[in-house]
Amino acid sequence: MVKEKKVRHLLGISGGKDSAALAIYMRDKEPDMEYFFADTGAELPETLAFVDLMEDYLGKEITRLNAGRDFDYYLKLNGNFLPTARSRWCTTNLKLKPFEEFVGNNPVISYVAIRADEAYREGYVSTKSNISAVYPFKEDGLNKDDIVKILDESGLGMPKYYDWRSRSGCYFCFYQRKVEWMGLHDNHPELFE
Ligand code: SF4
Repeated sequence: MVKEKKVRHLLGISGGKDSAALAIYMRDKEPDMEYFFADTGAELPETLAFVDLMEDYLGKEITRLNAGRDFDYYLKLNGNFLPTARSRWCTTNLKLKPFEEFVGNNPVISYVAIRADEAYREGYVSTKSNISAVYPFKEDGLNKDDIVKILDESGLGMPKYYDWRSRSGCYFCFYQRKVEWMGLHDNHPELFE
């Protein structure tokens, strides 16, 4: 008799508010949840501190992906060719591929933190047939205000960088607005340099 493979439940912590709120929201609903964080090696100190805090709150390990293969590693492999919106090798190598490696071959339910007010977004798309994505916030109609409330009520609050920046990810991300570059300059002059 062929033994059926166990279904894994995976939730990616990005260091941002939505995935943090989803982890809190799902904590008691799915006891077998596994958490992971695809560290680019160029995260803000505030992001890393928030992920540590989340780990304490959830009471479970958040597996760090990309050990030894960070942004600089892939930059070198790409002949120092920086990623751009048209050639976004960073997302493929630092987010999508490590996620797929972490998934392996077992059937997986991937919990995606897209809110009900973000119907236009899809999140990272994987073509692996053993991954099925679910969208609890979309399904339950939770929007941005609900997410802020979940974080407030948990006592974690918003990640600190939201005072001057609207997203998690690499401190030098090319998607930043001018005002966020200025925020980087004021809050982390050494990283700005
Ligand atoms: S945060 Fe920006 S630079 Fe970093 S992996 Fe994502 S898209 Fe690329």
